[in-house]
Amino acid sequence: MASHASSRVAKLAILSESPADEAAFGILIESVLERPFVRVRANLRARGWPSVLQVLPAVIRHLHFNTDAQGLVVVVDSDDSVVHTEAHDAPDYFHPQCRMCRLRATFRQTVKRLPPARGRERVLRGVGLAVPAVEAWYLCGRDARVTEDAWVNGQARGVLPYTRGQLKERIYGTDRPSLEYALRRAVVEVERFRRDTRRLEHDFPGFAALARDLRSWNLG
Ligand SMILES: [Zn+2]
Repeated sequence: MASHASSRVAKLAILSESPADEAAFGILIESVLERPFVRVRANLRARGWPSVLQVLPAVIRHLHFNTDAQGLVVVVDSDDSVVHTEAHDAPDYFHPQCRMCRLRATFRQTVKRLPPARGRERVLRGVGLAVPAVEAWYLCGRDARVTEDAWVNGQARGVLPYTRGQLKERIYGTDRPSLEYALRRAVVEVERFRRDTRRLEHDFPGFAALARDLRSWNLG
């Protein structure tokens, strides 16, 4: 029985813009996977969007050859960039200003050159896009006006419904929280989704896309 139980534990790595968010992402990932996971450390850390994109190929290669990680979850903020839509999901489509499209393309290009290693074909992909920033996810269910739709409509009209600073202010009481305090607040907020992420998936398609990736993983 012990071996059965341990086979249910997934092994995965998380790469995001800040370590403050990774504990909260861990809770969301377990909720979607409906199983616990062991965190595999990536070889590099990132700070902010461009650095996530830059280190991604090296992180994938490291996990593939040097670890037993089954998958890698990458989450970034959209900030002011183009928000991923269903239209971007068309075969062979790629929006150069969309961070989700760019992360997926980098993933694809990196894994396709790698030979099987450590008993698996490739490291599985999970990509999420927090619109406009992860603090919007943390407000989900507490303020019905904070949704990905509200942001996208605001972008289209040129009148943003809120700023990223305002979202941070509401979660942390400041737009420059300490790492430790940010981590604690993030974990408290995602507790609402520990057993059910449906509301978050509904209000934030950039999270739903990550949930779809995770549910497509065949972890055995
Ligand atoms: Zn896209």
